[in-house]
Amino acid sequence: MKILVLNCGSSSLKYQIINMENKEVMCKGLCERIGIEGSQLTHKVPGKEDFVQVEAMPDHKRAVEMVMAALTDAEHGVLKSVDEIDAIGHRVLHGGQKFTKSIIVNDEVKAAIRECFDLGPLHNPANLMGIEACEAAMPGKPNVAVFDTSFGMGMEPKAYTYAIPIEYLEKYSVRRYGFHGTSHDYVCHRAIEFAGLDPKNAKVIVCHLGNGASISASIGGVCVDTSMGLTPLEGLIMGTRSGDLDPAIVQYICNKEGKDVNEMLNILNKKSGVLGMSGGVSSDFRDIEKAAEEGNQKAATALEAFRYRVAKYIGAYAAAMNGVDCICFTAGVGENDKGTRKAICDQYLGYLGVKIDDARNDVRGKETLISADDSKVKVLLLPTNEELKIAMDTEALVK
Ligand code: AMP
Repeated sequence: MKILVLNCGSSSLKYQIINMENKEVMCKGLCERIGIEGSQLTHKVPGKEDFVQVEAMPDHKRAVEMVMAALTDAEHGVLKSVDEIDAIGHRVLHGGQKFTKSIIVNDEVKAAIRECFDLGPLHNPANLMGIEACEAAMPGKPNVAVFDTSFGMGMEPKAYTYAIPIEYLEKYSVRRYGFHGTSHDYVCHRAIEFAGLDPKNAKVIVCHLGNGASISASIGGVCVDTSMGLTPLEGLIMGTRSGDLDPAIVQYICNKEGKDVNEMLNILNKKSGVLGMSGGVSSDFRDIEKAAEEGNQKAATALEAFRYRVAKYIGAYAAAMNGVDCICFTAGVGENDKGTRKAICDQYLGYLGVKIDDARNDVRGKETLISADDSKVKVLLLPTNEELKIAMDTEALVK
């Protein structure tokens, strides 16, 4: 079975064709600047030179048509015809309270995705445009929606209910949802397989540390808690997002600086995190580490605070589950930055019996047990693969 995986943003579209026989990525690509001047498609086939096409893409429909043409192109394509695609798996950001798992798209599902526009104002409209563009370009092919929020729907009320008047949950569905759900779901299940843990009872903490960062606790693959909330702003310190903070800060700075709530939310989402803490050095953790090494004190504090917050959440989640069997690191920082993995484990997690093996930890982007044999908790580096998880869910639903 060949699955087209699509991840549509407001002005971008990422795609992969995955052959489910061997789980191989046959090609992948990116349409950028959709609806903006200077749009282009970059199509990558393993072993071949990248194919770049600069052409106007006024909307996602045109972008999907260009992807179809690239996929079947005599020179750069990987398919003889679009008919070879068995189904399309779409990443959809917000499923609200309706969707606890992936689902084949029909009119009702599209209406529900539309109902969640308020909850995912940047992504959900683009996700729906991607679905409708595929329906137009490939009539009759099944489309599957894979929600970033599904994994978090495993949480119990004590974990997802905010301590605010209950009417806001009842009227507006204000609750913790969690994001990066596809990644947390994939990695916690992969951890159970890779480390040979008890599939029903394994207590796993997944640290998804990238430009966006979140952490989850799960028992037997079911989410117990996760750090992002109603939106991706809550939780860990990120590249540009603040993560947790006292909500009264919003009012305080608004009054001091004559700003409104929307401006403050923009600052908390786009100008905070390690970018803001470092005084504008960068949102990229490599730049922050370099600046810290070169003696920039603000960058050093930002990096320490990032690691400290991850460790605090690990401690909280070990308590939430009354134990932890396995801690996994994934995403850009988690997969590539041995210093951050070591600092989190060595500085803060000794009391849990966590012991990192430095030689094993000297690795990037490869499934590896990085804890010592006598560590009480297994620590793993597991590269995330959200596209494969979307393709796996899609295959399971359309088979
Ligand atoms: P992601 O959002 O998962 O693509 O992760 C992107 C983040 O990973 C960026 O902030 C990168 O700086 C960071 N990253 C990638 N490689 C490294 C590395 N070797 N050391 C530290 N951070 C890294």
